Amino acid sequence: MPATTARIAVVGSGIIGSWTALHLAEASAQVTLFEQFPLPHTRGSSHGLSRAFRFLGELEMDRLDYSQIRWQELEQLTGEQMFVKTGLMNFGPADDPTLALYMSVLKRTGRSHKWLDSSEIASRYPMTSYPQDWGAAWDPDGGMLIAHRCLNSVQKRFQELRGHIETGRVTSLDSVEAGIRVEVHASASDPVDAAVYDQVVICAGPWTGKLVPQLAPLLQSVATPVTYWHDPSGVYSASSGFPIIFNSRLTGIYGLPSYEYPNLVKILYHGGPETDPDLRDRASLTSHIEKVQHYVTEHLPLLENAGPAILETCMYTMTPDSMPIIDRLDDKVVVGCGFSGSGFKHAPATGWMLAMMALQREQEIPVGFRADRYELHRFQATSVPNG
Ligand SMILES: Cc1cc2nc3c(=O)[nH]c(=O)nc-3n(C[C@H](O)[C@H](O)[C@H](O)COP(=O)(O)OP(=O)(O)OC[C@H]3O[C@@H](n4cnc5c(N)ncnc54)[C@H](O)[C@@H]3O)c2cc1C
Repeated sequence: MPATTARIAVVGSGIIGSWTALHLAEASAQVTLFEQFPLPHTRGSSHGLSRAFRFLGELEMDRLDYSQIRWQELEQLTGEQMFVKTGLMNFGPADDPTLALYMSVLKRTGRSHKWLDSSEIASRYPMTSYPQDWGAAWDPDGGMLIAHRCLNSVQKRFQELRGHIETGRVTSLDSVEAGIRVEVHASASDPVDAAVYDQVVICAGPWTGKLVPQLAPLLQSVATPVTYWHDPSGVYSASSGFPIIFNSRLTGIYGLPSYEYPNLVKILYHGGPETDPDLRDRASLTSHIEKVQHYVTEHLPLLENAGPAILETCMYTMTPDSMPIIDRLDDKVVVGCGFSGSGFKHAPATGWMLAMMALQREQEIPVGFRADRYELHRFQATSVPNG
């Protein structure tokens, strides 16, 4: 990447802000990455031990292909494993047009895939129980990113490239003649700090609507339950070959084999109640956990179904079309938000797009990344000002 001397502030050190900051540091920009909470923390969307990385379900592959290469480079650089290949099944009826579309994309792009009918599922995975008229699209190359290791490694690499992480909540952004003035509140007792940057990139996850009120009508912050179920027999573990199961489109549920916590299988509900991210633990998740319990009882009969052994929560930031916003707000502010429960795997590509926008080198974003799909003006019908 050609070098720059730009001074850039990135707000938010989740996986999106951290990758954006790393790309900017690689381009030699002077970057400060602001994070409101001491690191590491579990209050946003990027914490935890695992995230699914899947090809099945993607309609455009370029952002994912680029991201896979960058995750692999990071693995080589750190010597730490970031990805565990498990394969992935996405369930549905044999004539499901969405699954047929997903499989056709894998076929067109030369990737392995297979339709498993109910008898093949039963013989491969006798610890599951699905309806006779259901099968599953099989993505053998899917797997899990070890999320906390990914996040920590990106931030460490950023700091190795002389990037600076500062703890403090960014409270205001004001355009001034010399650039953009960023006001930061480190703690209630500290005086407000302020500095002027050439550009700001906002990657504030579920807090984005608080910092950029004009985006608030488009963003829904949702608390979502992350449940772990005891697997006494160990048959649902990654090490015994159990894959990721996707059923969120039809039932709201998806699950990852036990890996992070021994003999505990991670089952998630794709959604939850709208919640202020600062008051997240007040959200009632009971009805969603009951849906997960029902799914476990019906489809994963060897798990202990009395209730989750561990309950954690996480935040989704949803947009009206479940696609992120990756765009310029005005001549000094770029924003990446609304990753709608699926942004982790693409974070290297998203960070590159945001970095290129902040460096005003949008023309270097590959055409195959389809930046137009993520522009803010697609919501213009809802009359949100762009800027
Ligand atoms: C339960 C769950 C499961 C998921 N599963 C998958 C999956 O399988 N595959 C996948 O690809 N994706 C998955 N995702 C989605 C993915 O994890 C998110 O899209 C991604 O982590 C979003 O990252 P972010 O950086 O936008 O937000 P965050 O991680 O929330 O980061 C935003 C950061 O900004 C900070 N911040 C906010 N406001 C300020 C401020 N004013 N000043 C300073 N700092 C501020 C916050 O403290 C936070 O650290 C999942 C998400 C959840 C919750």
